Amino acid sequence: MSATLQDYQEVVGPGVIDELRVLAERVRGRTMQHINSTAVGGGVAEILTRLVPLLRELCIDTKWDVIKGDQAYFNVTKAFHNALHGKPEEISPAMFEIFRANTEMNFRETNLTGDVIFVHDPQPAGLVLRKSEGGRRWVWRCHIDVSAPQTNVWNFLREYVERYDAAIFSMPEFAQQLPIPQFRVAPSIDPLSDKNKPLDRACVEQVLDKYRLDPRRPLLVQISRFDRLKDPLGVIDAYRLVKKRSNCQLVLAGGGATDDPEGEQVLREVQEAAAGDPDIHVLLLPPFSDLEINALVRASTIVIQKSIREGFGLTVAEALWKRKPVIGGAVGGIKMQVINGVTGYLVHSAEGAANRIAQLLRDRRLRERMGENGYQHVKQNFLLTRQVKDYLLTMVALDHPDESVVYLT
Ligand code: UDP
Repeated sequence: MSATLQDYQEVVGPGVIDELRVLAERVRGRTMQHINSTAVGGGVAEILTRLVPLLRELCIDTKWDVIKGDQAYFNVTKAFHNALHGKPEEISPAMFEIFRANTEMNFRETNLTGDVIFVHDPQPAGLVLRKSEGGRRWVWRCHIDVSAPQTNVWNFLREYVERYDAAIFSMPEFAQQLPIPQFRVAPSIDPLSDKNKPLDRACVEQVLDKYRLDPRRPLLVQISRFDRLKDPLGVIDAYRLVKKRSNCQLVLAGGGATDDPEGEQVLREVQEAAAGDPDIHVLLLPPFSDLEINALVRASTIVIQKSIREGFGLTVAEALWKRKPVIGGAVGGIKMQVINGVTGYLVHSAEGAANRIAQLLRDRRLRERMGENGYQHVKQNFLLTRQVKDYLLTMVALDHPDESVVYLT
């Protein structure tokens, strides 16, 4: 059952909900459509799963559609994704052709219904070619750290991006030289979802039991798709260094995403690296394992998100919300969430991560203090209600393209 506005009000207070009602009134009667490349797996699907029902609660007619693609196409878009994050990728002319051909196919098959269309990430970006049909506003919502993209891929994508009415990036650092307005909207988590809602102790213990985790020993957890940019092997390296001094356990839990073809190979590499150590638990979780993920994070002593690149890293906010200190790679959106020395530690290497893990394992009060700081940080900045407000404001702003101040009353 989806949460009601009253449920959210209990978490964020009446002022926030009143504000949403005022904004929703301003755009009433207009329809919003979100388009991305996967219904399951990864942060974008996670956000849309919760964002769409909340917008509907506010009586904004909202649709969510997923483009189609075959294996060859998703191999190309994963390479684009990596390249846009600045990880060098060999991109051949044939790959650009595959992207164009798939764009054309989705161009014909996607049913456009929204007055305002939010297109998420590069995969469906080419749909903007239908802007010439008229009557709609188009927003490109980028979830990737494009601050240092591989030039050939960005130049290719840019031809589409420039046709939008506006672009949204998660951080100011990701903004680009573009001839269209750019807005900054940070992603968010839903405090009422199964992934984040409070759980009773019995539920947490059941999950510990299921995965044969020892509740008396420290538990380090990283929840992530099996993706090289999440650096699961670096997490194992850090754990091994810590393990010399502390009898801890490590969980690397993740599933796949339908638009991520690299997962299986990375999972195999992780399993090989973990082989022989019964205290490393590599868990391949099926989709919709939200309650289990919630329980694993709640059972953890420290959460790790040692990414090498990261657009935002919802897993960080999810952990901070549960009052867990987070050791995060000092990249992209993690830097917005992990305030070094306040909500966790930012690290640049496996050795750095190991030192900070060891320090936190020794100091329960420091963990508690950081956990509380992290909870407050997420409450102020990274809850779904704030993101809904930002999207509604985007719609209002698009109605007033030539005004720098818009009066809402
Ligand atoms: N997630 C999940 N199951 C998994 C691994 C991850 O449900 O097996 C969730 C995770 O809790 C988070 C999202 O997927 O909500 C991942 O978002 P994030 O921004 O951290 O990374 P992305 O996968 O988008 O790069």
